[in-house]
Amino acid sequence: MRFALRAKSILTLGGEAPARGMPALNAPLRPLHNGILRIRGALLEAVETYPAFKKGGESLPVLDLGEVTLAPGFVNCHCHLELSHLAGKTVRGQGFVPWLKSIADLTAETPSPEDLRAAVASAAAQLTAGHTVHVGDVGSRAPLAVAEVLAQGDPPENGGKATESGREFLPPPQRDSLRDRLSPAPPALSATHFLEAFGFAQPSSPLPPALAAGGHAPPAAATLPEYLYPSCAISAHSLYSTCAATLQAVRGWCRENKRPFSLHLAESFEETLCLREGRGALYQFLQARLLPADWRAPGLAPTPFAARLGLLGPDTLAIHCTQCEAKDISTLQQNGVSCCLCPRSNAFIGTGRAPALDMADAGILLCLGTDGLSSNQDLDMGREMRAAQKIWGFSPQAVLRMATLNGAHALGLSRKLGSLEPGKLAAVSLISDC
Ligand SMILES: [Zn+2]
Repeated sequence: MRFALRAKSILTLGGEAPARGMPALNAPLRPLHNGILRIRGALLEAVETYPAFKKGGESLPVLDLGEVTLAPGFVNCHCHLELSHLAGKTVRGQGFVPWLKSIADLTAETPSPEDLRAAVASAAAQLTAGHTVHVGDVGSRAPLAVAEVLAQGDPPENGGKATESGREFLPPPQRDSLRDRLSPAPPALSATHFLEAFGFAQPSSPLPPALAAGGHAPPAAATLPEYLYPSCAISAHSLYSTCAATLQAVRGWCRENKRPFSLHLAESFEETLCLREGRGALYQFLQARLLPADWRAPGLAPTPFAARLGLLGPDTLAIHCTQCEAKDISTLQQNGVSCCLCPRSNAFIGTGRAPALDMADAGILLCLGTDGLSSNQDLDMGREMRAAQKIWGFSPQAVLRMATLNGAHALGLSRKLGSLEPGKLAAVSLISDC
């Protein structure tokens, strides 16, 4: 199926490298006025002006979206869809450990499969309503349920590829009119499924070799059908909750298998206190529940500890980083680490603000994530972008690049997403204030 979309203005971000440093983040956006996206199936075939399209003489159906501005679809680099049923139930604004306790208490009860799927479906609808086209989703309990909800109507025999069919990547107001013209629509959202390793136990469960990560992947990974493997990565929860051997095994697996390696890093003051000095509220919480008797604090803040374990590299995506100091920023930059800012999650829990301007100045690649509904009121990337503007004073063009080009790069998806260029997915967002 071929067709064309017309819009008053298209911010393609074409030809741009991922934006590192303030000058690149703030560079003018160079809108394509009276623009056309020529689409074949899931992919962009051409990006051109309407006069050039007319001159070319192609008789394609044109869907004129009118006086709107299109941009690349958003890439949400950090979410926990399997915790969507906890929306509105967790402790808010009281700091990290009270929030963690509330999560631990709430997750002690497993939701019914129906409730979980309904909550994930509702969360996924929030993502697509906010023009997110790809989500980096972390899960350890119910990755199959999440994948199945996201891939609704996407039969395994398609190898999951139907999720890339561009039609549903269109912003919501246009979907119905497109549906009138096109055949039945495929699912809306693609995902990188980060299967999260956690804890200090020896690896035990037999896992599919393609997802084993030395046996350290969560047992639930064994439930995943093979067609989902290409969209999976293994991640590690954090430095304080996961043993060093597991962290290193997972990192090694990601490197060997060319997948992004993601972990929560330097999220709270209590994390630093736990790792550096082996004390504090988080340490006490973990000691009672998780830490082995022989656990000793490494005596380092999170970032130098991660560096010492060999966890930092260009394929590492560090989530949060609210507690990073100047020397940590330097370490992250020297190792080429990407950082995912989750400003509304940090505000929700009460863990402070990442030094995002200093990180940007240092040339660290910054992207954005909503985090899950267990620590955010919604999954709207537009609101995450506006929060980043308000909190740090980033420009509209800077947050747009974080939410598109940079996010795609951080998840290793630059060839498919992040900008509107021929050969990439026809995945767009509708924006109003850039
Ligand atoms: Zn998280």
